[in-house]
Amino acid sequence: MEKFFINTSQIINNNIIIKNEDAKHIAKVLRKKVNDEIYVTDEEKNTYLCKIILFKDHDVVCEISGKLNINTESNIDITLFQCIAKYDKMDYIFQKATEIGVKQIYPVVSNRVVVKLDDKTMTKKVDRWNKIVYEASKQSQRTIIPNVENIIFLKDICNLCTNYDIILLAYEQDNTNLKEILKKCKKNEFKNIGIIIGPEGGFDISEVELLKCDKIVPVSLGKRILRTETASLALLSNIFYELEDI
Ligand code: SAH
Repeated sequence: MEKFFINTSQIINNNIIIKNEDAKHIAKVLRKKVNDEIYVTDEEKNTYLCKIILFKDHDVVCEISGKLNINTESNIDITLFQCIAKYDKMDYIFQKATEIGVKQIYPVVSNRVVVKLDDKTMTKKVDRWNKIVYEASKQSQRTIIPNVENIIFLKDICNLCTNYDIILLAYEQDNTNLKEILKKCKKNEFKNIGIIIGPEGGFDISEVELLKCDKIVPVSLGKRILRTETASLALLSNIFYELEDI
């Protein structure tokens, strides 16, 4: 069943009012009718089963039939630090990372990022990525919508370290085995994990040296070189496979 996200302010007594793009989607794309049902999740992670009772102007009014005990979120919080890749690769990575279960995303500028962005195009990009993540969250029945933060520089990650138990820096020239690192994460019950993925041209050795610290550890994803979009999704999947309680 289709799911939508709302703010708690859209709940009025036992009704929920859906507006704007989501209302248009329900009426025009999904062609829902009165009495059809949808799932709605609010900011406090409550999910409701709702029945559409009225199409009014551009809004869709639903009645709450019941509160559901659904939480599709993982016990592991993963933040993706993704160096900016060319063309529409970032759209693809963020959409898939959302489906897999990422909690937060930082687009990152590193030495070998070739995409040039000024302040205006940056804001536009981040808005676009947040829209993509929003749609992917609905489609994959997430309970929360991951946030795409403003673009940061690679070195800024050092200042964010305290938010994480560990940050894995995917570096193809390292030989630290991911399995071993994930065993350590499991043993120490790490729940807050960051991952850093380089751009198409990879990282400079100087960048890796600069980042290395107690919290940031380089890891290898195996003997083969993956494209940046493959590396992010492979690493995310591996972490969830090893650490998520299902
Ligand atoms: N340095 C290479 C490849 C970069 S691949 C080049 O010059 O073309 C893009 C990014 O994916 C890398 O920066 C790294 O973060 C990640 N990656 C790809 N394959 C990897 C592997 N086998 N182990 C760890 N990280 C990998």
